Amino acid sequence: EWAIRFEHAAKTYAAGSSASRAHAPAAVDDLSLDVRTGEVLVLVGPSGCGKSTTLRMVNRLVEPTGGRVLVEGRDVATLDVVELRRHVGYVIQNVGLFPHRTVAQNVATVPRLLGWDRGRTRTRVAELLELVGLAPDRYARRYPHELSGGERQRVGVARALATDPPVLLMDEPFGAVDPVGRRRLQDEFARIQRELGTTVMLVTHDVDEAVRMADRVAVMSTGGHVEQLAPPLDVVAR
Ligand code: ADP
Ligand code: ADP
Repeated sequence: EWAIRFEHAAKTYAAGSSASRAHAPAAVDDLSLDVRTGEVLVLVGPSGCGKSTTLRMVNRLVEPTGGRVLVEGRDVATLDVVELRRHVGYVIQNVGLFPHRTVAQNVATVPRLLGWDRGRTRTRVAELLELVGLAPDRYARRYPHELSGGERQRVGVARALATDPPVLLMDEPFGAVDPVGRRRLQDEFARIQRELGTTVMLVTHDVDEAVRMADRVAVMSTGGHVEQLAPPLDVVAR
């Protein structure tokens, strides 16, 4: 059973001028790939090979120029974007918290957009902060600049999980965190992921992270070509 399916998905970015457009290579050429329900699929590969593009086709930050992407059986192109993003959380490096909003307000962003009432939102925010290891009493009213890098990433994860999305996209989620903090975050995230059964696509440069986090690793080369797709230890052994 799969949660995300790429069917000959392709993306060629429109270049500035028609002359360069003619030569623009596809960022992702022809990608067919299934991500199984509940697995952590890690994408690795050289910079510029199409990893972020692949991820962003799932939540429609990037619209494919060919083929299609399905989430839980539905072509994402046919879904309302707000609806889609309730089902697909997104965590990036340096997370993009709103600097003038408290931790609680940041985590409450999507519930508020969806018009949840105060009580439900408050309960959910507290639950999420607990889940990512930030005691609400201590953290809810702080501002992002009053947090460490690792704590900020935790807030980003909490915010992405607010609507309990079955799918989570993570692009270098722990890249800005020091090595010790990163290991703790990886372990805690793995625990959360198992507990929730979330399907995860994760992009990383860090081979150690790939080995620790992945159920399967997709090794990509230029054009989003999947060269290998296997459990991490099989990939490393080659
Ligand atoms: P990766 O995540 O593997 O580093 P990306 O998916 O970011 O790779 O990029 C793949 C290719 O697409 C690169 O050649 C990159 O320069 C290009 N690209 C990415 N985003 C854009 C964009 N918004 N406009 C034009 N080209 C882009
Ligand atoms: P505002 O004044 O904009 O309503 P608050 O900072 O009081 O903002 O709260 C923002 C959101 O975070 C609200 O949904 C609130 O219920 C929630 N929240 C605030 N403090 C806590 C807390 N200690 N525990 C859980 N949720 C909280």
